[in-house]
Amino acid sequence: MGRREASLGTDPGAAVRVRFAPSPTGFLHLGGLRTALYNYIFAKKHQGSFILRLEDTDQTRLVPGAAENIEDMLEWAGVPPDESPRRGGPAGPYLQSQRLALYAQAAEALLKSGAAYPCFCSPQRLELLKKEALRNRQTPRYDNRCRSLSQAQVAQKLATDPKPAIRFRLEGEAPAFQDLVYGWNRHEVASVEGDPVILKSDGFPTYHLASVVDDHHMGISHVLRGSEWLVSTSKHLLLYQALGWQAPQFAHLPLLLNRDGSKLSKRQGDIFLEHFAATGFLPDALLDIITNCGSGFAENQMGRTLPELITQFDLSRVTCHSALLDLEKLPEFNRGFIAKIVFPRTQSPTERQSQIAVSFVKGLHSQGNVYITPFLQTFYLKFVISSFRPLECGPPFHPLAIGLCWPLIDWLSSRLLEGPGTNLTQDVLNRELKKLSDGLEGIKHSNVMKLLRVALSGQQLGSGLDSWTPVLNQFDFGAVIDKQA
Ligand code: GLU
Repeated sequence: MGRREASLGTDPGAAVRVRFAPSPTGFLHLGGLRTALYNYIFAKKHQGSFILRLEDTDQTRLVPGAAENIEDMLEWAGVPPDESPRRGGPAGPYLQSQRLALYAQAAEALLKSGAAYPCFCSPQRLELLKKEALRNRQTPRYDNRCRSLSQAQVAQKLATDPKPAIRFRLEGEAPAFQDLVYGWNRHEVASVEGDPVILKSDGFPTYHLASVVDDHHMGISHVLRGSEWLVSTSKHLLLYQALGWQAPQFAHLPLLLNRDGSKLSKRQGDIFLEHFAATGFLPDALLDIITNCGSGFAENQMGRTLPELITQFDLSRVTCHSALLDLEKLPEFNRGFIAKIVFPRTQSPTERQSQIAVSFVKGLHSQGNVYITPFLQTFYLKFVISSFRPLECGPPFHPLAIGLCWPLIDWLSSRLLEGPGTNLTQDVLNRELKKLSDGLEGIKHSNVMKLLRVALSGQQLGSGLDSWTPVLNQFDFGAVIDKQA
């Protein structure tokens, strides 16, 4: 197990190491992406490392496939971790369930120093305490009963209950800390909370202990996380103190909410990255919109690319206000990035008309299709401009739709190679397209035409996004691409 010195995260001259630490209890959504992105940008800005740590200590809440999805989607979004469960790294393992020995060691040290104690209270007793508090309209809290057990009592109880839970003694004044976003903070946890369980009887830690132990051993220099954890930070600092470790710096990020201020996950069904990836949104557009609605930059500006985000980001400009996300604007952000691929430079409308094909094909070419150039040289202008509306506005463009063009392009280029002067009339083209769809099992000719239109023009004439996205999503582009690559 790779271990690092505490000084790595605390020495002002030491490397910046930040982490994104989601629980794999759900797939990656926009809120998570935002936290990951700010960590990524901060790391890259300071030539540091961005770590993905999966906090899977609550085994009852794990969602199958969530761990893979989180890592896949970070890669898709273009913000891959430098160290992670999949990539490995010097401070691994990066899955908390594989680090139980470290938590046990820390709990042991806390028991030894008297900062923690074993708790033998039964689940029934704890439940009763909770019910009583609720009946009296009080916030449930543990009454710290096992804190006062004598050594002899502990020894006696251990004989019948050898694996008690371990609780951390919340005592004394909570340390104040200067959050890099929220400023000076202190939460008097001891006066409002009972002593928290840090290690459960099954040997798994709870979040607070695991987070502190891992941030220490992974040499985390800055903790950038959601503002919902601000109130827990004093508790974490007490743990650092009790363990004799120096704490990292903290920067809590304000929440990402819907435009109307409601919680993102409650009202918005489609906030998962998978959904955006499958419906033709470019990752750049997502990164742009979630940074645009938040803070951290001198000005709001549409169309910033990731390298620009890195250069322009300034943590001291992150404010405490929640970021309000207007997802209705996402197609506009997306079009901006598609246009960047298709029209690298803005031209006058006439120039643009004649440049559409060239730029578009260049864009396609950059996706790695070697057949594009011959295609462009003969037919493209006539074909695209006469048959399809220019790709200027319209619904989000599905990059995978390009895959369907490949068999066509392949055919066109082989025709081209037959010799100069090949004349592609509309009739010939229609016939060839028909042949193309006949060769694609289970796909109707009309759908092939729709897909081609979307692929080439970014628009489906006469009908909206809703009607073609399901078709796009059902089609196995991967198979076509594999065949043609
Ligand atoms: N596992 C916690 C979460 O999913 C991480 C909080 C933190 O970054 O410390 O929110």
